[in-house]
Amino acid sequence: MALIVQKYGGTSVGSIERIKKVAERVQKTVNQGNQVVVVVSAMGKTTDGLVNLAKELSDNPCRREMDMLLSTGEQVSIALLSIALQALGQDAVSLTGAQVGIVTEAEHSRARILEIKIERMQRHLAEGKVVVVAGFQGISQSEELEITTLGRGGSDTSAVALAAALKADLCEIYTDVPGILTTDPRIVPEAQLIREITCDEMLELASLGAKVLHPRAVEIARNYGVSMVVRSSWSEDPGTKVISPSPQFQSLEGLELTRSVDAVEFDANQVQIALLQVPDRPGIAARLFSAIAEQCLDVDLIIQSLHEGNSNDIAFTVTREMSNKAEAIAEAIAPALRSDPQRREEAEVVVAKEIAKVTITGAGMIGRSGVAAKMCQTLADAGINIKLISTSEVKISCVIAAAELNRAIAALCNAFEVHSSPVRSWTSEAQKVPAVRGVALDLKQARLAIRHVPDRPGMAAAIFNLLAQHKISVYTIIQSQHSRYKEAKHTRDVVFTIAEEEVETACTALANLLEELDCPPILVDKEIAKISIVGAGMIGQAGVAAKFFAALAQEKINIEMIATSEIKISCVVPKQDAEKALQVAHTAFNLAGQSTITVPT
Ligand code: ADP
Ligand code: ASP
Ligand code: MG
Repeated sequence: MALIVQKYGGTSVGSIERIKKVAERVQKTVNQGNQVVVVVSAMGKTTDGLVNLAKELSDNPCRREMDMLLSTGEQVSIALLSIALQALGQDAVSLTGAQVGIVTEAEHSRARILEIKIERMQRHLAEGKVVVVAGFQGISQSEELEITTLGRGGSDTSAVALAAALKADLCEIYTDVPGILTTDPRIVPEAQLIREITCDEMLELASLGAKVLHPRAVEIARNYGVSMVVRSSWSEDPGTKVISPSPQFQSLEGLELTRSVDAVEFDANQVQIALLQVPDRPGIAARLFSAIAEQCLDVDLIIQSLHEGNSNDIAFTVTREMSNKAEAIAEAIAPALRSDPQRREEAEVVVAKEIAKVTITGAGMIGRSGVAAKMCQTLADAGINIKLISTSEVKISCVIAAAELNRAIAALCNAFEVHSSPVRSWTSEAQKVPAVRGVALDLKQARLAIRHVPDRPGMAAAIFNLLAQHKISVYTIIQSQHSRYKEAKHTRDVVFTIAEEEVETACTALANLLEELDCPPILVDKEIAKISIVGAGMIGQAGVAAKFFAALAQEKINIEMIATSEIKISCVVPKQDAEKALQVAHTAFNLAGQSTITVPT
């Protein structure tokens, strides 16, 4: 007899008819000889509706009351599903998060799960009942027993956490699409089903905007080796298998409170090349990286910072062996890239050979505000200056002077209590998997740029500490090259994205610091979209970035910011171009299928 956790999303339980269908599927699973725990979301758009009700009363409702309100949605659907099961003659019992004992931090609206009590569920299962659990909610550990929620989309996380706690044989996520697709079918109907995807890739996709899975659900699956599939509520098709490595954690104590960082990686074999003052118009990045790809050179980090006037700076790193060739290409292309034809100024090539990259990685940093700040602070305390920063949602890389690498590794390992491991070699895996697995779009972020920050240790730490104190999570961060302007020569620009609704708080939090540092006013751009390509196969493959940038250039879409990690490339583009950008990137990597997918409303 297997123990299966099934999770049904809002659309899947959106009407009485659909709840009946879910009940039938659950009963069928039981009749096949399994024990079943079901996790459900609120019906249809209930949670959005509740949010809107509160917004009618207040612009900024208190988070505790929002949790009290939003958690009611799931209470309706668990009761209805239980009733539907009982009507089919299937014994069932519904339980709220509190009744199960889903214990969380006392952090309203974004609580992490600390512990799940399994005794009551086990008792009901032994009685032959289906246990129907409310997703998205928990109860705080404190004496007050506060109702908490896990964050929007958090029912996936409830389901995978229950599967981990119960040591279930399988966790099935039922939703309104056939599985994990190459992109969002609501925007690109030709999106194709991905039959299998690794947790690493799915973590990037989920945190970069593919909302089909809550990123924290993938994190738990990865940590505890939960077998997970994502499939359609409307069909018997097998859907997508999310491949978890063998479990890293045995103890379930502090379930979601695993460390934010689980490895410090480094790469001393890199050279940084920068092209300063290239024109800010579509096609420039494509041209540079196409020339590099033609020579079969594989670039690692790419950073394109803020444009200043009508020019941009682009920096990238390549391995030492490739650096001479890459430099020659950059030199050859520079004369053609004049930001201002009138002034006959050429783009300037700057090469830094004595550099190294140090990276912290860990899915636990998703949604945790202080991790970037802690990394920057640790390096600052060791007196180490950060030359470049580039992030993905699950890692942060800093380029520093090569001579300081050992000290940086020691300080970071100490601060995050981890052992250092050299950069992972993915090549053998990479050959087997496609360069790009999927494409994701995030429309909910805003870009903030702090210009002319003094180039000395501790500056990035000061900025990100302030944001962390205000519990603001920072997503993509880039810190660019030196500007070429004389008056700004010893400064850098720090550019990052945060959730749109946190812009005001962030600007207030940073105001005093900027004044002290004599920086010009913060630049805020809410009209942006972040589009990302993800795939473990892009490691060690030349030309992936070039192809991505060329696809955007062909549609005259300007790239405003670039940030990369080993398995993803993100570009910030104007919001108005978002859907087009997603479509062309999807097509460029041949991800489109023969048939189209329609999502039921
Ligand atoms: P549920 O209510 O079942 O949790 P969600 O609305 O949270 O469903 O997530 C499913 C939706 O995610 C799909 O309807 C689709 O529009 C969107 N989506 C975005 N990116 C992807 C992707 N790569 N694969 C599948 N669905 C995606
Ligand atoms: N009902 C919650 C939401 O809409 C949780 C979920 O559906 O996963 O965010
Ligand atoms: Mg969801």
